[in-house]
Amino acid sequence: METIRNKGITDENVLAAINNIPRHYFLDSAFDKIAYEDRAFPIGEGQTISQPYTVAYQTQLLKVNINDKILEIGTGSAYQATVLAEMGARVFTIERQKKLYDIQQQKYVFVNKYPSIKFFYGDGFLGLPTFAPFDKILITAAAPYIPPILVEQLRTGGIMVLPLDDESGNQRMLRITKRADGGYDEEAFEQFSFVPMLRGKNK
Ligand code: SAH
Repeated sequence: METIRNKGITDENVLAAINNIPRHYFLDSAFDKIAYEDRAFPIGEGQTISQPYTVAYQTQLLKVNINDKILEIGTGSAYQATVLAEMGARVFTIERQKKLYDIQQQKYVFVNKYPSIKFFYGDGFLGLPTFAPFDKILITAAAPYIPPILVEQLRTGGIMVLPLDDESGNQRMLRITKRADGGYDEEAFEQFSFVPMLRGKNK
């Protein structure tokens, strides 16, 4: 993972987790295209997995600790969820698209090697009130605004990392830290390009 290191990822735990995860777990996932174009899942087509650098970048900002209870919005290929689990976190991940949820849910590797990942089919804008509060929340699709419901589901001192839409049509990576008064402090990082968070009817 020298490439990622050279691009500025310094957290050794993040680098180790990425190094430990076999790419073949994810090779048949075409999540990005589906998320964007809403078309059928091309089974067997070896689509590339999420860009490891982006995954590493968000994970580093999240300051993951062992046993952290983390809510992820946008399961997709479950690569990001697996990185978090590999780092010792308990992961609750939500996917809005039924087909993607079904695929990940059925993967043998998650049931056996990563029982600490729990999969949910639902709307990430709503989070998982039943399981709140979370130590960390990670949004992996472009957010049009900072979802207030998700801020509510963070514990005091908890961290949320999200790519927030900016005026250029890309996203600015944000890290928010929840204060005891219920508000939050905000830090802005680099620009990225994510598929949009889906609103409206479930698919
Ligand atoms: N974390 C994923 C990234 C997938 S891309 C990975 O490691 O592969 C973003 C994902 O967010 C897509 O799967 C998309 O279907 C999902 N998504 C989009 N809007 C959503 C919403 N409102 N709630 C939950 N998931 C959503």
